Amino acid sequence: MSKLILVPTPIGNLRDITYRAVEILKGVDLILAEDTRQTGKLLSFYNIRTPIQSHHMFNEHRSVEAISSRILSGTTVALVSDAGTPGISDPGFLLVRKCIEKGIGVESLPGPTALIPALLNSGLPSDRFCFEGFLPPRKGRNKKLEVLAREPRTMVFYESPFRLIKTLDDLALFCGPDREASVSRELTKIHEETIRGSLSFLAEHFREKTPKGEIVIVVAGRKL
Ligand code: SAM
Repeated sequence: MSKLILVPTPIGNLRDITYRAVEILKGVDLILAEDTRQTGKLLSFYNIRTPIQSHHMFNEHRSVEAISSRILSGTTVALVSDAGTPGISDPGFLLVRKCIEKGIGVESLPGPTALIPALLNSGLPSDRFCFEGFLPPRKGRNKKLEVLAREPRTMVFYESPFRLIKTLDDLALFCGPDREASVSRELTKIHEETIRGSLSFLAEHFREKTPKGEIVIVVAGRKL
């Protein structure tokens, strides 16, 4: 039976992929990728010669119908994103929903994602946490921050280096400057680092040392 398989790929270090993920990428009929050039590097590293087609957020709405029909007619498809787990702040959800709607089997492999190592590196409670992805840049941002300031679970955010200081300042404003947090940068890569401290300390640190690379912010929940 043909199906859709979501396959996580490395978030930096190319060796962070499971044996099964490589086997599946070699065995499926088609790989759907956000950026075929980016995924092409991974495929050539592992000598995977499966046909590849582009599937990104700009064509996702339009293409889910055609892709799901293709799976129904016998093509097994693997979905990957540029890095990490598809559907986690990346395209995937719409296709999964469409496949479920049409009775197509969906399978998700466990594997790399940036939020889990950042959460664990933070040293903050990991028994319960919430993943917030990217904060809205403008509309709805303050409302969201107001709600999150009362959240008792550890919170995980994705952020770009260009917005990091603004976001740390905003979090300090709503959650208080002394709230514990961490910033993990370039996970699994050569310049990987995690800086821990209060929100105001972190904002000051990155004002002095311009942030670069990919970033995850982890913030302690409100003390009950
Ligand atoms: N699907 C991915 C996942 O499972 O983590 C997330 C994709 S999202 C478009 C990209 C964001 O993930 C980056 O802006 C950054 O916040 C985070 N990220 C991805 N790779 C990272 C890394 N190596 N180190 C730190 N953060 C990373």
